[in-house]
This record gives sequence, structure tokens and C-alpha cells, in this order.
Amino acid sequence: MRMKLLDVHCHLDEFFYKEDIDEVIDRCRQNNVSAVAAGVNPGTNRNVLMLKKKYPDVVHASLGIYPPDALKKETEGSENKLNLDYDIDREIEFIEKNKDNIVAVGEVGMDFKDGTDFEMQEKTFRKMIELAMRIKKPIIIHSRKAESKVIDILEEYNYSKVIMHCFGGKHSQVRRIRENNWYFSIPTSIVRDEHFQKIVKETQLRQLLLETDSPFLSPFKDRKNEPSFITETVKKISELKRLPEIDVSTMINRNCEILFFDA
Ligand SMILES: [Zn+2]
Repeated sequence: MRMKLLDVHCHLDEFFYKEDIDEVIDRCRQNNVSAVAAGVNPGTNRNVLMLKKKYPDVVHASLGIYPPDALKKETEGSENKLNLDYDIDREIEFIEKNKDNIVAVGEVGMDFKDGTDFEMQEKTFRKMIELAMRIKKPIIIHSRKAESKVIDILEEYNYSKVIMHCFGGKHSQVRRIRENNWYFSIPTSIVRDEHFQKIVKETQLRQLLLETDSPFLSPFKDRKNEPSFITETVKKISELKRLPEIDVSTMINRNCEILFFDA
């Protein structure tokens, strides 16, 4: 059997996976992969908890509030409608009430590309950081075109369990993240994306995690991404670091134990 691996960030809810979810979960089992499924709003948060209950050997839950204005823009024209008109403080209460069912807070953060109400985004982001600190869970962060603002805010809080998901910022920001001892979760698109290859080359394994961001960022053209494809990232990191895959997996698993499972 392959060594176990954890996909620290993906979207497995019914917005993206419908009748194919059973097969996706089966392929996780075959490849010894488990996954942290992230919610982004009340509907997906509840769906993620349901998935964790249905597939407890594969799915861990992470509940979050993605910038609602950006999510609205991103899901425009989609046949599935997400409820984006809700009370943020009540949703935070819901997440806190479920703290024993989750391994992380996320997906949260700021998005200046698709969002418009930056004041609301910042207020919400700060509440999510405070929530993660209160319940002592790692926080999984989205920072599209808002990288420098997000890092500034995070630096005000002295919190170590910070995971920068699919970080697209520039080199000086990558260095700041590294110096703050936070983590990068590296997406499967690293197989062709030189930006992530560079981050991996320059960062010690003790600050790296693996993610697919399924169904996005697939390592294969014309194939929807899924957590079991995380093995492609391990291959690539092993090549870049000139280390056996087993060493890469062992080291990254240790990071996961420390962060998510209180080892
Ligand atoms: Zn995501």
C-alpha cells in the first residue's frame, strides 16, 4: 500500500461533485489519501459536515466564510445557486459550535480580483482569524490579488497555524511567509506551474503541505481534479528536492500531524 497522504484543501461538496462523489472517495481509499474538505458559506459548510459523517475514513471538515462578494461574482451564471445572503456572526457561531467536528477554519481570506467590498472582507477575515485562534485550529487562507494586505493583517496576530493556500504572490511576500514560519499548501498544478516549483525549491519541507483545490487546478488536462491526484504533487516535489518520495511524504505527514491532529 502507498504511504498515506493528506489533501489539506479541496471542495468536495455537492456544488461540484454529484453522483461521482462515491467514485472519487473510492479512489482516495485505493490511493490511501484523505482530504480536508472546505466549506465557503452556510450551505457548503453543512454539506462538508455531512460528507465527513458519511465518509469518516476519508473526509475531514474545514468550515469557513469565503469573501461573499467574490463568491457571488465567481458563481454568476452557474446553475447551482449558493446562498450568499446570510448573517456572518451567526455562521461564526455555527462553526464554533462544531469545533470538535473540524480540523481547520477555512476557506477564508480576501479577494480583490472578484470582490468589491474590501472593508467588509477585512472585517470578516479578522473575525475568522480570531475564531481560529479561539478554537486553536489552523486557518486556511485565500489571498487572490490581496496578498500584501492579507499578510499585513496576519502579522498583527501572533498565530503560527497559518496555511497559505495556493499562494500567488510575489517573491518578497513568499519570503515574508517563510520568515513568519507559516505554511504553503502546494497545489497539484505545480506539475506545470513554475511559480509553485520555485516556492518548493526555496522552502524547507517542514513548511510545505499538499492540496488539490479540487475540482480546480488539475494536474491533468481535460480531467476534473480530485484528492487522489495529490500523488502527482509528491512526485514533482521529490524531483525538485532530489529526495525519495517516501521522505517527502514522511516529512509532510509530520507537518499535518502537528497542524491538524495535535501530535
Ligand atoms: Zn479553495
